[in-house]
Amino acid sequence: MALTPLADYNYETHNIEKNLSQFSSVSRIELEADGEFFVTLLKEVYQLNCLQKQNQDKFLINLQDIKQMLIEVTSPFKKDIYTWRKIFQIYLEYKIFVGNTESDREERNWEFSQSQLTCFIDRIDNSHLVKRLKHPLSKIVYENFVKLNIRLILMKKFQYFNQLATTKLIKKHDKKTSLISDSMFRDLIEKYFLPEDTFKSLCCAMEQLTTIIPQIDDYNCPICLNIAWKPIRLCCSHVFCVRCLVKSVRKGMRNCPICRAKDAVYNANQKNLDMCLMNFLDLYFPLEVHKKQKDDDRERVAEEMEAITGLRIE
Ligand SMILES: [Zn+2]
Ligand SMILES: [Zn+2]
Repeated sequence: MALTPLADYNYETHNIEKNLSQFSSVSRIELEADGEFFVTLLKEVYQLNCLQKQNQDKFLINLQDIKQMLIEVTSPFKKDIYTWRKIFQIYLEYKIFVGNTESDREERNWEFSQSQLTCFIDRIDNSHLVKRLKHPLSKIVYENFVKLNIRLILMKKFQYFNQLATTKLIKKHDKKTSLISDSMFRDLIEKYFLPEDTFKSLCCAMEQLTTIIPQIDDYNCPICLNIAWKPIRLCCSHVFCVRCLVKSVRKGMRNCPICRAKDAVYNANQKNLDMCLMNFLDLYFPLEVHKKQKDDDRERVAEEMEAITGLRIE
């Protein structure tokens, strides 16, 4: 499998600049009729969009390649899963292309993406996380992951400057000819650019690469905020660790503490233990499971001692 080396990205940047300069030179062509101006401009924009579509195709091919490699190197049977999880936790903090919270799903502009990506790379360099990756393929995957981010930023930049140049050219034409083609022609020409929705879906696809590795926040018990080890799935589908539910029953709780489903806690029994999820947690979060087991054991011993002696051991 061949991935585009960094030199190619530099080459692409050079090409973008070359195209832009050629494009801006359109405004200096002596034109005999307005129609000639519009046709020339449309042809140029069409060619630029063909280039952008090629970029999009390359991006999607690389995305699939990296996805496959990530699946391999982040396998729970390999040694890099915790390091990769940390790298992606940091990556998501920077919200490079889109927001990743309920209240913020906004796409970022190319300048923001570029500065956030730089901060992310610096932080990873300073953390020495990449050096800790053990699988021979892991370091290559990280490099290619960074390059894929750069490719997407270049595409966003390419689109931004092409749209800006088009708008400026039309405005200049209108000023020189005293015609009002601005809004009407701009609407027409916009159709030649990659739609904003396409960009947003590319940005989301980029961020979704991180979901290949399950993150602990998605598997925490909502009561104790630790891993939901031995996970009890109530009839309402909410999941808690068995320790929290045992303690809740002792306190007389009957309903689900999240959705208030009637008697969901009271009626739960060993059949509610989600074995599938339990095996998954054991496989992907062995350190967290081990710590939770030890904490639960310690807590149980303390409870038993208290029952016998009446003294609470912290
Ligand atoms: Zn819990
Ligand atoms: Zn519930």
